Amino acid sequence: MQYDVIVIGSGPGGYVGAIRCAQLGLKTAIIEKYSTFGGTCLNVGCIPSKALLDTSEHYHNAANNFATHGIGISSLKIDVKKMIERKNDVIAQNTAGITYLFKKNKIDSFEGVGSFIDKNTVKVTKTNGATEELKAKNVIIATGSKPTALPFLPIDKKRIITSTEALNLTEVPKHLIVIGGGVIGLELGSVYARLGAKVSVVEFAKSIIGTMDGSLGKELQRVLKKNLGMEFFLGHKVTGATSKGKNVTVTAENAKGEPITIEGDYCIVSVGRTSYTEGLGLENIGITTEERGNKISTNEHMETIVEGIYAIGDVIKGPMLAHKAEDEGVYVAERIAGQKPHIDYNLIPGVVYTWPEVASVGKTEEQLKESGIKYKAGSFSFKASGRAKASGDTDGFVKVLADATTDEVLGVHMIGPRAADMIAEAVVAMEYRASAEDIARICHAHPTFTEALKEAALAATANRAIHA
Ligand code: FAD
Repeated sequence: MQYDVIVIGSGPGGYVGAIRCAQLGLKTAIIEKYSTFGGTCLNVGCIPSKALLDTSEHYHNAANNFATHGIGISSLKIDVKKMIERKNDVIAQNTAGITYLFKKNKIDSFEGVGSFIDKNTVKVTKTNGATEELKAKNVIIATGSKPTALPFLPIDKKRIITSTEALNLTEVPKHLIVIGGGVIGLELGSVYARLGAKVSVVEFAKSIIGTMDGSLGKELQRVLKKNLGMEFFLGHKVTGATSKGKNVTVTAENAKGEPITIEGDYCIVSVGRTSYTEGLGLENIGITTEERGNKISTNEHMETIVEGIYAIGDVIKGPMLAHKAEDEGVYVAERIAGQKPHIDYNLIPGVVYTWPEVASVGKTEEQLKESGIKYKAGSFSFKASGRAKASGDTDGFVKVLADATTDEVLGVHMIGPRAADMIAEAVVAMEYRASAEDIARICHAHPTFTEALKEAALAATANRAIHA
């Protein structure tokens, strides 16, 4: 079969890229090695983790917060099996949606492992061993990533697990040890802490969510400790983990090099993800991957060293986020169609779906200080928000960073209720190069959480927040 474009991998990068190619009139095929489309994001990532976060949030609120509203529940229990079934149903609805979109856009889909024979020929190897060859002028590699393993710490997938197994537990752990204080570890740790597990986070760095603005990690750690009793071992280097029967033992060294031992019944290893290129046959077309992280190198147009072969999403550099992969899918499709698309990597928002949620876009204070850019900072606490008082979500704040001279917004960092949705306003404002005063002068509905952004912008532009 001859195509304009073959896409390998149907995660958010691959499936969005394929749809955009088809919309642009390109004859498109997509190859996925698993029986469902949607990749990590839909099957074992964004969507299932958010389904469990929602269930556990309901449970936590019923157990801890309903009483203050005058709602009494006499016998509250969590049915873990039902929770996982609902999560699987949410996955099924989403992956079926992708099948529908492929049909609607007349994209040919193939189940099997895609591997290069040469730059224009991709072999599909099905689970029964049968093979088929497809030809195309362009190929987009969107093969994603898999959890990073620590060489000295074998994953048994039963007690010492990755995020994938953590989405399918059959019970609430008594004591869950999370190795890695990044987004995935904290989200999954939150799920089980809300359901009653004791959760200990062991992190090598001195702070959690270390890539975000430093103030966010500090506040998130404080709130997770206060609300969920989570315990943090920061500045600790994990040296090993073993499981025996139902028990797990994690060993680590503190900052002074002293050994510590933590005993639990489950341990999630969430120390990052590594790009996935196994079985792709890159050696047949002369593409090598970077030693660190196994990433495929591309130019600024996401084209590899081989003309007509592109790579997008988790398999290349940049933040490992679904929306980054999607935007790159669209970018490459439009490049192939002869257009001149653009992505501003400074404006890719980052979100942590804990409660309170954490969201961020643009430069952090640390980055601005490091690059010597003079800036003004304005913050507004949710304690002073009428909407937050009404819902009982007064933890957190919004911080706006603006250029000291021009007032242009350079970064927005927030931790608080619905921050994941609220960050979109900051992204739009920054995309249009708004000043802090522009945001401050826009009418925000009352009472909403978004008023906190307006107040923080007022604080940044002229230190004149109204409600602080
Ligand atoms: P993937 O989604 O990894 O898809 C790659 C696909 O390629 C897979 O389906 C794979 O089977 C297939 N494939 C690989 N090799 C071959 C081959 N040779 N032939 C055929 N098919 C192949 N990101 C967010 O933005 N928001 C979140 O809330 C979020 N939550 C997450 C929660 C968890 C627990 C995890 C693990 C990740 C989360 N992420 C989140 C990250 C997000 O899932 C990834 O950034 C995103 O899925 C990357 O998309 P992709 O298209 O590059 O690759």
